[in-house]
Amino acid sequence: MDSRDRPGLIIPGTLPAALVEGFFRLCQGDFSYRLPRTLARDDEDTAAFFFNTIADELDRIMRASRDNEARLACAVERLADALVRVAAGDFTVQVDRDFRGDAIDVLAFLVNNTISELSALAGASERRAEEDRQRLERLVDRRTQELRESEENFRTLLAAAPVPVLLVGLDDDLVRFSNERAADLFGTTVEDLVGRRMPALHASEEDRARFRERLEAERRVDALAVPVRTYGGESFWSLLNARTLVSGGEKLVMITLTDLTEQKRVEEQLRVIATTDALTGTHTRRHFFDLAEVECGRSSRHQRPIAVALLDLDHFKLVNDRFGHPVGDEALRLVAETVREKLRRHDLLGRYGGEEFALLLPETSLEGATLVVERIRQAVAALEFAHQGSVIDLTISAGVVFRRPDEPLASALERADAALYAAKDQGRNRVCAIANPPSLV
Ligand code: GH3
Ligand code: MG
Ligand code: MG
Repeated sequence: MDSRDRPGLIIPGTLPAALVEGFFRLCQGDFSYRLPRTLARDDEDTAAFFFNTIADELDRIMRASRDNEARLACAVERLADALVRVAAGDFTVQVDRDFRGDAIDVLAFLVNNTISELSALAGASERRAEEDRQRLERLVDRRTQELRESEENFRTLLAAAPVPVLLVGLDDDLVRFSNERAADLFGTTVEDLVGRRMPALHASEEDRARFRERLEAERRVDALAVPVRTYGGESFWSLLNARTLVSGGEKLVMITLTDLTEQKRVEEQLRVIATTDALTGTHTRRHFFDLAEVECGRSSRHQRPIAVALLDLDHFKLVNDRFGHPVGDEALRLVAETVREKLRRHDLLGRYGGEEFALLLPETSLEGATLVVERIRQAVAALEFAHQGSVIDLTISAGVVFRRPDEPLASALERADAALYAAKDQGRNRVCAIANPPSLV
């Protein structure tokens, strides 16, 4: 609206100097200047009234805006400070309020509210964390107790185990545990054994290294037969089983040992029983064949001569019939001993049948073998065997052959049997040698 349309208003230019001065100051940003009022209700006073009202309003607006700026800056500073403390975990902080109810105050109110909420939440989660910690502690206590008990049970079991058991440090080889059986085995006491270095289980450092390698690779060693030395220096064979385990937080090796002394003795006994004839002390038929086969193989490889012979007691049935079986046994023992005395170390003598013996003579020609067997025949015939005043004549018949190149043992024995049959046929107490045809010698 044009100011000229408003009745009673004085247009600029006609204003007195004071009004001009006033507007000029307003334009300069000075809102403090006021016009004097005459209260005459004339235009001049009305203009002064308007001017003063505008100046008041502008002044108020400008003041308010300057004040808000300052409050805002101050509030931001307080809020930032409060938030930094909250971030550090201090939920006791509150922002000061001026309760003007404007946006800045509402902001402070909201921040305070949020801090209180956070404080409540933090308190709750702290209480929960404390409860969790206590629950965890109780659980660890219970588990530790259970572990200790199971550890004790484990050691009690080992102590009562019917086999010698040792627990040894994997890294330092020191004995951590031994049951009484293990201590007995090493010729000492449990108290003495625990804390000492592991007894010598291995014949050499290489054996020990191999054992360790296997243990580390497979965490176990099964049924390893080793010569073990006691602290007293005695040596015995033992079957070793080992496992790695963790006990009491330590890496250990559990070793069980089986003393093989008795087993070795029984094994040796069985071996003797299986290979030696109980009555005559010669090789059993089976063992004679095993050894003779090996000898024939060697002779074939090196093209060396071998002679084979079969010896049989003459009319032995009569000895049994007249003097009884035990006397017959004694006679058999005596004959076997007589034969053995005439043999060399590498010759083989086996009990081929009841009163029949087989001979294998390596590195021997037919003539040589015939000579040896003939000496045997003479020695047996010369035996002076008597029972209860009665002299018992013992004689043998024998068949001798020369093994043909690569001839199977069974075949050579068959031919020796034929030679023996011939000796019997020719009247007994004699040696019959069958020569090979010239092409086969
Ligand atoms: P030959 O001259 O034809 O060989 O007559 P022989 O009586 O020796 O032969 P025969 O095969 O008829 O009899 C063998 C005897 O040997 C029969 C058996 O009782 C006896 N004999 C076999 N083994 C044993 C033994 O271990 N102890 C005893 N005492 N006698 C045995
Ligand atoms: Mg006979
Ligand atoms: Mg016979």
